[in-house]
Amino acid sequence: MAETTATEAVREEEEKKEEAEEQSFEELGVDARLLRALHKKEIEKPTPIQRVAIPLILQGKDVVARAKTGSGKTLAYLLPLLQKLFTASAERRKLAPNAFVLVPTRELCQQVYAEVLSLVELCRVQLKVVQLNSNMLANDLRAALAGPPDILISTPACVAKCLSGGILKAASINESLETLVLDEADLLLSYGYENDIKAFTPHVPRSCQCLLMSATSSTDVDKLKKLVLHNPYILTLPEVG
Ligand code: ADP
Ligand code: MG
Repeated sequence: MAETTATEAVREEEEKKEEAEEQSFEELGVDARLLRALHKKEIEKPTPIQRVAIPLILQGKDVVARAKTGSGKTLAYLLPLLQKLFTASAERRKLAPNAFVLVPTRELCQQVYAEVLSLVELCRVQLKVVQLNSNMLANDLRAALAGPPDILISTPACVAKCLSGGILKAASINESLETLVLDEADLLLSYGYENDIKAFTPHVPRSCQCLLMSATSSTDVDKLKKLVLHNPYILTLPEVG
């Protein structure tokens, strides 16, 4: 009898897993424009981290997501981030910058920027997306941030430089920032960005949704969690897979 119950429990567990694997982006709550964009990109089924992270991020929760490289963490945060911007009120949209995506390297900055642009173009929405890099001089930075962007993709160092140079105002971060993503969070501190991050975190409003993506867990990720997150959901693959 006990054995039958155990077998049933295992079967139920397997069925649940199979059902989850069949879940579509639509069932996760992704909006029609993004669904069409994903289809055009031939991305049909969410990955395990996307399945668990997207609904929580869409609900506005702070999330720490740890899953190995290549598991689809970029779309796990970009889809809800874009969706939030698509549905923001006109009043809210006037405030900018609305979202920061902070990454440890220029290459990653370029990669995330290309991904955002391709989604924005496929969705045919008007959003200003800007990337900053360490080669940009004060004038370039000023030009990039003029008519402030909805989404800013940058290393923490460039944001800190803009803040200290008065190109980016602490008050406007405080007034407008709705989403802060720290991508490859496990690398941000080891690449020496701690002081840059500390330069702007005091200005991040309490209402800002903070998302921390990483491939590994480390004391650095814990430190960052304490710096930017209030009461996050911690998603760790493979446990949630
Ligand atoms: P991570 O940030 O976890 O290392 P990425 O977000 O860079 O992973 O994704 C790795 C690759 O997988 C990218 O080429 C991306 O386009 C692709 N990808 C992401 N999500 C999906 C999906 N649901 N189905 C198929 N490919 C995907
Ligand atoms: Mg990544």
